[in-house]
Amino acid sequence: MVDTLPTAPPPMVQLNNQNYGRIFQFLPIPTILLGPDKRVIAVSKSFLQRYGLTQDKVEGHLCYEVYRRGKQPCPLSVCRFSAAMQGQQGLFNLHEYKDSRGHRVMEEVHLSPFTDESGKVLGVIESVRDISEAKRLEASLTETNELLGCLLNSMLGVVVAADLEGRILFVNHNAQRVMGYQPEELMGKTLWDLSPHEELRRLRRILDESNGPVTGVRSQVTKKDGEIIPVQVNLNYIYRDGKPIGTLGIIRDQRERAKMERHLSSARMQVVQSDKLAMLGRMAAGVAHELNNPLTGITIYGELLREHLPPDHHLQGDLTRIIEDAERCRDIVRDLLDYSRQGTIQLESLDLSQVVEEALSLTHADSLGLHVEVLTDWAPEPLIVQGDRQLLRQVFINLISNAFDAMHGRGKLTVRTYQGDEGMRCAEVGDTGAGIPREYLVKVFDPFFTTKPPGQGTGLGLSVVFGVISRHEGKISVKQTGPQGTTFLVQLPAQAPKTLLEFANTMHNDPEDEEIG
Ligand code: ADP
Repeated sequence: MVDTLPTAPPPMVQLNNQNYGRIFQFLPIPTILLGPDKRVIAVSKSFLQRYGLTQDKVEGHLCYEVYRRGKQPCPLSVCRFSAAMQGQQGLFNLHEYKDSRGHRVMEEVHLSPFTDESGKVLGVIESVRDISEAKRLEASLTETNELLGCLLNSMLGVVVAADLEGRILFVNHNAQRVMGYQPEELMGKTLWDLSPHEELRRLRRILDESNGPVTGVRSQVTKKDGEIIPVQVNLNYIYRDGKPIGTLGIIRDQRERAKMERHLSSARMQVVQSDKLAMLGRMAAGVAHELNNPLTGITIYGELLREHLPPDHHLQGDLTRIIEDAERCRDIVRDLLDYSRQGTIQLESLDLSQVVEEALSLTHADSLGLHVEVLTDWAPEPLIVQGDRQLLRQVFINLISNAFDAMHGRGKLTVRTYQGDEGMRCAEVGDTGAGIPREYLVKVFDPFFTTKPPGQGTGLGLSVVFGVISRHEGKISVKQTGPQGTTFLVQLPAQAPKTLLEFANTMHNDPEDEEIG
């Protein structure tokens, strides 16, 4: 079966050459037809209207006489007529001039070759399109965009706009400073490249629940180098016709703030700790003399009694216990006095690495028979501090002993000294013990806080450390702790603090001073 198309009804108007000529006249776009000699063969009414011309002023005239009212042809560099005569399509010229009212006019004159049935070019059809308004809009859009770009780039935070699928549509230049990305690098990436999925879901939830913009949400972003940094985010949906089409975030870098908060809380902790220790120091100073005499009495009389009794006397065991306990009490009093102002202070220039090394060899006995690997990393240059050698040595003895205790006979002790920031001399003592539980972190420097069994810990080791380091105007902190172990960090200034110098002077000038131990 052969399909037959329905036959079209006969056209109402029969097209002949005359009709074509009239159609040309009625073209709505200003148009002229040029012969090969650039003379106008036909002109549309719209063309005459546009330029306020009459047919006789156009037909038979050269194109540049019509357009430019000039006698000179357009320069060859801009005239596309010859190219169109050679059959090239899609050509256009730009005309720019001021109209009678002084307004700038821009026109695009499109040229297309006009051929006979054999394809021979007979002339060129030129249609004029007024693009003044489009150009004005384009210029004002460019200006608005530039202004908007400047505004967004001048904003303090990183501005990120994304569609609802998370594809990044825009970021401002601050992305480079905060996250290490050039804005162009982030085009085509998604928000998932900047923040973990879980975190983005949380932010989206917060935004959905808020029914409006949310401000000051604490979050984090991943930098180009993989570092995760704390940030604060202001968030909102981007709406079009009342419907959300994307999200807008303004991200503020919080690294400096977090650093300051850490400093503040550590300073606050140091103040609280110093207050506690100062109070305890005063108390210790008050009772030390009182306790020391009876303790000495108990020890001496106990020893005498033990000597008078036969070695196999049944009270020998009890007496030994009394003497040992009295000695333990005396040690505690000595520890207390170590960080109260009772010990004599001998200030000298010390190499911190040397002090730590001495402490390490003094505690060497603790490590004998243990499976503890000791790793050291000493600063290449001397780390000179002004301080009391004995007290500082005690600091590291306490830290190293605690590290050994934490590892229960097996692990790795790491001791490191180095030059820190702002002239601080640093020493670290790290272990591979079980770490300090979070809830104990605020207590470990408290006097008498211990988790060790009775008889094994006095809870004074870290208090002494704190007292000594504070008096040297240094800092002691738990650099890190967790199931992989704990690292304590000691930071000391190079110069002896004024208070310590004054104190050392008064101690040396005080004839009443006595060393207790
Ligand atoms: P003591 O050693 O007599 O208990 P310290 O003041 O030296 O007293 O220490 C207090 C507590 O801090 C310890 O009992 C322990 O719980 C904790 N601690 C100190 N150093 C470490 C460490 N390196 N690893 C784990 N916990 C520690």
